[in-house]
Amino acid sequence: NNLKKHFPQKSGIFKKTKNYVRAVDGISFEIKEEETFSLVGESGCGKSTTGRSILRLHEPTSGEILYDGQDILEFSKGDFRKLRKDLQMIFQDPYSSLNPRMTVKKLLMEPLLTHHVCTKEEAESRILDIAQKVGLSKEQINRHPHEFSGGQRQRIGIARALILNPKVVILDEAVSALDVSIQAQILNLLIDLQKDLKLTYLFISHDLNVVRHVSDRVGVMYLGQMMEMAPTDELYSNPLHPYTESLLSAIPSSDPFKKKERIILQGDVPDPANPPSGCPFRLRCPHAHERCVVENPKYQEVKDDHWVACHLYDNNE
Ligand code: SF4
Ligand code: MG
Repeated sequence: NNLKKHFPQKSGIFKKTKNYVRAVDGISFEIKEEETFSLVGESGCGKSTTGRSILRLHEPTSGEILYDGQDILEFSKGDFRKLRKDLQMIFQDPYSSLNPRMTVKKLLMEPLLTHHVCTKEEAESRILDIAQKVGLSKEQINRHPHEFSGGQRQRIGIARALILNPKVVILDEAVSALDVSIQAQILNLLIDLQKDLKLTYLFISHDLNVVRHVSDRVGVMYLGQMMEMAPTDELYSNPLHPYTESLLSAIPSSDPFKKKERIILQGDVPDPANPPSGCPFRLRCPHAHERCVVENPKYQEVKDDHWVACHLYDNNE
């Protein structure tokens, strides 16, 4: 709720002027139990910072993160550590987070021992169980990470995140580094695991095709703010925000008779340390008008669960 994460940045010749990179600049959204909520947007829009803030890997600047009605930013370090089992993260490159000297079995044992969740004997059976769920054989778990391909390593990363029986899993570009055919396998695995283990996903990706395939609801971010949010089918068939329209115009249509015109955006994403006045998207928006220069549009619900921040949808106030 109104989450902000501003990173201090020293600038000027004496590195004295303190400026702030507004990585996440006041976003609000809700993730429902057992759904997949996706955050999309170009790199640097604040998606990853949002995910990491939820795990308090970054301490947010302000706002609330409510989990089961409680603001986890108010939790003591100790209470948060207990809760941390429920909230796990899967990264783009599992290899960098896997200790090369450990076997898969040891890698899966580690979180169980740190969180003291079970005895060593129980751990053995939990490891076999999760390995089987992610498609790793009993024999494979005695090997080391470097003996696996990229897709299999991501299976190890998934197993490591799921071994603690989390409720919420944050997937940050979890399939982005994989070949398209492997991507599909891992995505289908994630979808099956979600059903099987009743998981709630926050899916972070820049890939609109992948997002369409996995999500129940989608939020579109730009320059640290939420531009639009809607259920997946609604967003893809009826995008309202000019930024969403341009993103969707870039993905090839599956229907050859429904040729869309590609909307090419002018310029680059502005520096989040120095965002424009008014609407964050106005420097690249084909519909920008006077009001957009002076006033940041309100983020409002214009249809059932369809939210947008754009003056084109302001009611006559
Ligand atoms: Fe474009 Fe203005 Fe809407 Fe921003 S508020 S997206 S600049 S029309
Ligand atoms: Mg990122």
